[in-house]
Parts: sequence; structure tokens; C-alpha cells
Amino acid sequence: PSPESQTREYLYRSKLPDIAIANDTPLVDYVLERAARFSARPCVIDGKSGTTLTYGQVAVQSARLSASLAARHGLRRGDVVMLLLPNCIEFVLAFLGILRRGAVATTANPFYTAREVCEQARACNARIVITLSPYVPKLAELDPDVVIFTIDAPPPPQDGENSRQDGENSPRRKLVVQPDDVAALPYSSGTTGLPKGVMLTHRGLVTSIAQQVDGANPNIYWTPDDVVLCVLPLFHIYCMNSVFLCSLRVGATILIMPKFEIAELLELIQRHRVTIAPFVPPIVLAIAKNPIVDKYDLSSVRMVLSGAAPLGKELEDAFRARLPLAVLGQGYGMTEAGPVIAMNLAFAKEVFPVKPGSCGTIVRNATAKVVDPETGVSLPHNQAGEICIKGAQIMKGYLNDPEATALTIDKEGWLHTGDVGYIDDNDEVFLVDRVKEIIKFKGFQVAPAEVEAILTSHPCVADAAVIPKKDETAGELPVAFVVIANGFKVSEEELKLFVSQQVVFYKKIHKVYFVDSIPKSPAGKILRKDLRSKLELN
Ligand code: ATP
Ligand code: MG
Repeated sequence: PSPESQTREYLYRSKLPDIAIANDTPLVDYVLERAARFSARPCVIDGKSGTTLTYGQVAVQSARLSASLAARHGLRRGDVVMLLLPNCIEFVLAFLGILRRGAVATTANPFYTAREVCEQARACNARIVITLSPYVPKLAELDPDVVIFTIDAPPPPQDGENSRQDGENSPRRKLVVQPDDVAALPYSSGTTGLPKGVMLTHRGLVTSIAQQVDGANPNIYWTPDDVVLCVLPLFHIYCMNSVFLCSLRVGATILIMPKFEIAELLELIQRHRVTIAPFVPPIVLAIAKNPIVDKYDLSSVRMVLSGAAPLGKELEDAFRARLPLAVLGQGYGMTEAGPVIAMNLAFAKEVFPVKPGSCGTIVRNATAKVVDPETGVSLPHNQAGEICIKGAQIMKGYLNDPEATALTIDKEGWLHTGDVGYIDDNDEVFLVDRVKEIIKFKGFQVAPAEVEAILTSHPCVADAAVIPKKDETAGELPVAFVVIANGFKVSEEELKLFVSQQVVFYKKIHKVYFVDSIPKSPAGKILRKDLRSKLELN
């Protein structure tokens, strides 16, 4: 390569023009900016009970909760409150109420063990935990000063606790919240190590939401007539930002479902005429493969988003065949990036042509580059390397970990994602896999996601995961864990052959382990570390 190509930076941007983003506005004011206009329209619906709150009610009730937290518990700017809740209306109210005070919401998986919950609460110095009474035993080890607030048995309201004190437009509150204050403190999924506390500011989240749903041609075009399914966990940044906060910003209705169960999900889509379905690959897989789907009328769905984990092309096609009226596409994000890095432009108001398998185009008001993970050299179109992103939406840093922050965000402000991918001639992002997950077979690189996509395209395979097995001569060998679809039969040899017919020799599968299920995180990620320890026991 010429000296010029050594130093040149190849930068990638959205095809949408940049927009003006009022990112010095506090997040709650921003997402509820137009709420007065649709105050009588439904904001949140509890799928199970049908309980509905309008935008007006959500504004008032979240302000009341905010006042109550301040009056009873002295909640102040900068204090951390932990939400240990399944998806529910109270999650929405509490999140908004906490942020209105300039306090910080940290979210935890309610299925975490007592140890995990307490570790997170201690690490972020949570002063209050908002939860349900069945989870209270998990908090037994916390410092007795920590206030535990159960929403299923709330204390009676006290005098003077109402929205007047801290109403929508109180100038005092506007002074309290600064744009670079931390607003949310979600944790990364813990797919590759321990989950990391990620500090997202008001400015960062406002920017991210605007990048998705604002502008004359929004990257994701939603309207107040949309009904958005909220089945992914709200404690994870995908649902918190791209489902909950983006829906509020556009005035759509959020239909809440606490956990994924296929029949219930299909029934809810049919009953509430859901138009927008944000999913993760395991849900896409279930809908593509489960025969009960044909029993429901899903014709209201116009947009299906997938993200958080790889979605194979074959699976995309199988899904499209089942929901031909919906636009299916992917977004790509990472908690640290605020989270959205790239979004499919087929979701835009004025759509762009997109390719199957693409994870979208870099969001507007942001810049990306692709670098050689070893040398840091910036790479042109179509060359795979580590994706890096820059913009006001990225995290302020990891909580209490300046070293880890400095390793992730470099001095020029580039966030290094740890994901390998390339950007094609049409500026679409294609992910290969995580730098850490790539299997090294005799110096050749094997992306587990690619082999998994081939395996799940087999009619007898319900699900699959590929991981490395240590080997003296090859270094690492790709091996597969496979779940056979109900009522089907297939042998190890047949599956090995099925893969080897479609790939170069070094991507072949060397062993198949048949299992009942693939361990996955609540955001739909394969828990490879669990599979690796299974392998060691073998
Ligand atoms: P940890 O960082 O704690 O190990 P994690 O990286 O899984 O966990 P998240 O922030 O929830 O935590 O996930 C971000 C990662 O998810 C990305 O770095 C990427 O590897 C993966 N990802 C997100 N979207 C996609 C997508 N559309 N296709 C493939 N992978 C994706
Ligand atoms: Mg990560």
C-alpha cells in the first residue's frame, strides 16, 4: 500500500443529512416534548390486564412519583435508584420520575441472584431500590440505609405529594438537570465477561433518540398511530432506548409484555393490532419456525426490528415468508454506544434500498470507521476490521473504571466496539462477529455466527451455537451445539456434511453435541461462556 493509504482515514456516515438536535434538553422534557398534544392518547398498555395510561396520565403520575421520592426519601440530583423490575407500567413511571429529579436510573435483571443484584446495587451506590415484593429477599444483604420501595404494595400518598410541586414546566427543575449528568446506568449484557456499568447522559440519550426517530426523514419512521410491542426486557438498553424512549418521543403506544411466550405474544399482536415489533433473533427464530404462527392474524405488523445478536440471511428469508407484509431489518448497537450504531434505512420515512443480512447504515450525526484490530490502520469499503463510532450519543464512560473506559474510548473520542465487520459500497454495515469470539483454526478465522446461520437453516435444526474447542494441532476447532426441532431426527454426520458442503474446509464442524436448548441472555445473546464450560466438563 502507498504511504497515502497508510495514513488516510476512511470515514463512514449516514445517507441521511445531519439534523439539529436539542441535546442540552433534559431527557424527560425531550421525550415528552409533544406529549401535551396527545395527552388523551394511550401511552402504555399492560398486555395482560389491559390497564392503559394516557400520555397525560404518564406525565402526571411520573411527576407525582418523582415528588414522592424526593419528599419521602430525599432523592436528589446524582443519586442512583435501582429498578429491579420486570416489564411493567411502573417501570416506565419510575424511570421517568427518577430522571426528572436529575437522579440516575440503574436497571437490573430481576432474575439475577441475590449476589448479582447486591453487587450491582453496591457498585453504583444505589440509595433506593424499586422492586416487587417477591424480589425483596434478594436485597437482604444490602446496607440497611438503602430504601426498598415495592410497587405492588406502595405506601399511601402523603399530603403535598402531587405534581404541582414539580410540574412539567417548573423552571427550578430545568436548572437541576445538566446535559452531561448521567441519566441511565444500564449494564452491558455480560456476554464476554462481567457486565459493565455504562454511564449514559441526558445529552447522549437525547442524541441517540433523535438519531433514530427525529428529522424530516427519520431513520425509523413511527407515528402516534403506531402500537409498539415491548416484550424485550426494559432493563436492557435496546428496549429502554429504542422501544420505550423512542415510542414516547413519537407519541406511539407501548404495549407491555413481561416475558416472551410465543402464543401469548401472537395473541397480543392480534388483539392490539400491533404495528411495530422490536425483536431479538431468538424471537425471530421462533416465529419463523413455529407452526402455531399460522393460527393468528399478524397482518397489522408493518415493521420488525432485530438486533443485539446476529440474524442469519436464511432466517431473515424464512421470517419474511411468514410475515410478508412487514419490513424486516436489523439495527446494530452496543450499550456503550448509547446504544445504536447502525440502523436499517428501509425503516425510514423515505426508504432506501437495503440488502439482506445488513445491520443497517451508520446513524446520522455520527461518524464511523473500520480499523485493523492489530495495527489500528483505517480500512476502506468492503474490508473487515473493528468498527469504531464517534458522536454525542456514546457513553460518558464505565462506572468507576477509568482504565476500562480509556481502553474503549480512545483519545480522539472513538469508541472501539470489539466487533468485526465491514461497510460495503452502499454504506451498509455487515457484522462478521466479535473480535473475541472468532475461532482461530490453524491461523484461519472462523466466525461462529456464519456457521450458526447455516446450521439453523437446516429444517431439522431448531437452534445452534458454535464455539471453539482447544486442539493441539489446530489450536482451535469449531464445534457445534445443536437443538433438534420437535419431531425431527438428524445425525451428527448429516449435520457435519450439511455444513461442509457450504463452506471452505476450515469452517467445517468437528463435533456436534445435541442439547435441549442453547443458553441465551434475556437480550437473546448466546452465552458461549456457559457452553465453553460445558465443553470442559465433557
Ligand atoms: P458484554 O460487553 O458485557 O460482554 P454484550 O457486548 O453482549 O456484553 P450489549 O451491549 O448488550 O452487551 O451488546 C452489544 C453487542 O451485541 C455488540 O457489541 C455486538 O457484538 C452484538 N450485536 C448487537 N447488534 C447486533 C446485530 N444486529 N448483529 C450481530 N451482533 C449484534
Ligand atoms: Mg460488549
